[in-house]
Order: sequence, then structure tokens, then C-alpha cells
Amino acid sequence: MTIGILGGGQLGYMLALAGYPLGLHFRFLDPSPEAPVGRIAQRVTAEYTDEEALEKFVSGLELVTYEFENVPVRAARCMATHVPVYPPPEALEAAQDRLNEKRLFEKLGIATTSFADVNKQAELDAAVKKIGLPAVLKTRRMGYDGKGQWVLRTQDDVAAVKKDFPNAALILENFVEFQRELSILAVRGRSGETAFYPLVENHHRGGILRLSIAPAPKLNKSLQEAGERVAQKILQELNYAGVLAIEFFECNGELVANEMAPRVHNSGHWSIEGSATSQFENHLRAVLGMPLGSTATPGVSAMLNLIGETPEAAEVLAIPDAHLHLYGKSLRPGRKVGHVTLRAANLEELLKKLRMLPAFFQREEFCLPFKPACTAV
Ligand code: AMP
Repeated sequence: MTIGILGGGQLGYMLALAGYPLGLHFRFLDPSPEAPVGRIAQRVTAEYTDEEALEKFVSGLELVTYEFENVPVRAARCMATHVPVYPPPEALEAAQDRLNEKRLFEKLGIATTSFADVNKQAELDAAVKKIGLPAVLKTRRMGYDGKGQWVLRTQDDVAAVKKDFPNAALILENFVEFQRELSILAVRGRSGETAFYPLVENHHRGGILRLSIAPAPKLNKSLQEAGERVAQKILQELNYAGVLAIEFFECNGELVANEMAPRVHNSGHWSIEGSATSQFENHLRAVLGMPLGSTATPGVSAMLNLIGETPEAAEVLAIPDAHLHLYGKSLRPGRKVGHVTLRAANLEELLKKLRMLPAFFQREEFCLPFKPACTAV
């Protein structure tokens, strides 16, 4: 049985690694001839807009899924005329455009930021008047890792962004004074069965995820239930199959939805060692219509992203229950090239293990030394 995956980055790489024990084969489509999955699976190099290549790609596949949410919806729809495509292309459509995403949250009664669409420079003042300052101006499409975002704190910032106005459809959101950032990974099978991982606490630097702690420290039952309720609403509305990630701001004990990704997610990498079933295996089970695996999470995990550089492997592996993942990508600044997961019985032990990490990690970029961000819960 061969699964087609659109996108051939590290998420696809880890999907394949999770699928091999289940006897699955994989064929990837990616425009880059350097896509890391080339090391371990069949890789087709073609543009997502090349319909002839897409038709050739789907031939003989059981189904198609994706590891990259900016695949053109048209490509997903084109494939869906040949083989099942999960998650449904409607989920891509909702998640690719921040305005669609906010409207979906609003329609489902999910708390989110206030927002206004800004299609040209002349509309910015009215949007600022509606939303107030501070605010965040974001491109509606193709934003990731904090790219295509401008924080507007004062009227001077508004004037500055007007001078060099981005040539793209934009959205203005109110700036949320959050206590911490959390995310939930949820999974729904083709039969409608659902499972949820615990909320994870995420720390970013320069707009890029650097550290996740799972479960989030001081996570109480009502917050977890609130996260699951939000996820359940979206999964049901989209008749979803696969893993869905939702990112939240936590404000005074409440969740405010920021964005979602219709795929496995960086803040779920800890689940490879930290949960009974990883997000990658559960995504495959879900899209294949197989029973979902347990998301039981004994103990606590920390996931540290390796951005553009890698540590001495032996120094990481010397720490008990430390796990190193390298994606086989060439080292370039700002590029996610691997991650490390540390596992411990409880938060106290985990903090001890974080302190045992080699000097390479003991830097502000890794959000170390780690202090739980929220004491208010
Ligand atoms: P995003 O691409 O929407 O995930 O934004 C990247 C990061 O920017 C988030 O993880 C937050 O740290 C920050 N951010 C985004 N939107 C807002 C907002 N409305 N208020 C405050 N911080 C934000």
C-alpha cells in the first residue's frame, strides 16, 4: 500500500518513519530536488501546479495526504478526482488564509483575536481604528515562522509600514497580552473517532518555535477540556480525517485561538517518544481509516528545535532518555534541521535534564534556562 504525500520536508520524513513498521510505502511530491525525504522514500520533483505531473504522481496510490499546508487547493482537488485525499481540501482552504481561518473560528463560536481585512494601504487607518493599538499586521497567506508580520504599537509604526506597504492581502489583529502560548494536537479517523494529545506549552524566539513542554506545566482539566472542545468543533465542521494542530494564546486562564494547521505539527514532535502513539503514526492510522492509537502520555517531555546548527550527537545521547532527530538537511541559518526530545517522570526531573544539556543548548535561543511561563493557572 503506497501513500502519496504532498511536501517532502521533515514532517513527511517523520511520517514515513512512522509508517514503515505498519508496512506502508510512500511517494512524495515536492518542487525541491533537495527535499529531505529523498533519503528514505520515492521522491517526485515537480511543481504543485503541474497537473500532468500530479496525475502521474497519483497513479497506483492508496490515498494522498499532505505535510505542507500551502499546497495549492487546486492540486489537492485535482488529486481528489483520482484517489481519496485527507484531510479534506476544505481544511487546506480554511487554514491557508488567515481571514478564512478567523471567520471559521468566529462561525464556530471559538474565541479568537479581533480582526479586520486590509486589502490596500488606504484601508489600514480604518482597520487600526476598528482594532486599536497595539496590533499585528499579517499577510493572509504564506506566513510561517513569524514571516510576513509587523507589530504596530504606535501611530509611528503605522506610518512606517504605510511607507513600505506590503504588496499582499493582509489582516490586522489585536495584539494579545498572553501569559503563554499553547497548542493542541487532535486526530480524527475516517469513521469520526477522535483522540487528543495534552496541551503543549510553546516558546518561540524570532518567530520560530524553539522549545515545547508536553504536557504544558500546570495544565488543569478545564483548560484541557476547553482545548479539546475547540478541536472537536473544527474536526466535525470540516469532516476531518488526520491530525490537526491548533495554536492558542492563554489569557487569564482562557484559550484564544491564533491559528491552525491541517497536518502534523512541530509542537507534536515530542509524541514520538513521549506518547503511546506518535502524532505521525496517528495521522497515518486516521487517513487510512484504521483504529486510532492511544495518546496516553506518561511523564513529561521537552522538545528543543535545532535551527541551522546541530550539537555533538554523543553529548546529547549521553543524557538518559534524550533522543536526537536529524532530518538530513544541509545546515542553513533559520532552517529546522533536527530536534531533541528529553523525557522525564515529572517536571522537576525534566528541569534537571534540561540543565544537563551541553553548553551548545544553554543559550537564550533555546529558551534556557527554562522557567515555566505561567504561574496563574
Ligand atoms: P503566527 O504566525 O500567527 O503563529 O505568529 C507567530 C508568533 O507571533 C506567535 O507564536 C506569537 O508569539 C506572535 N503573535 C502572533 N499573533 C499575535 C497576536 N495577535 N498578539 C500577540 N502575539 C502574536
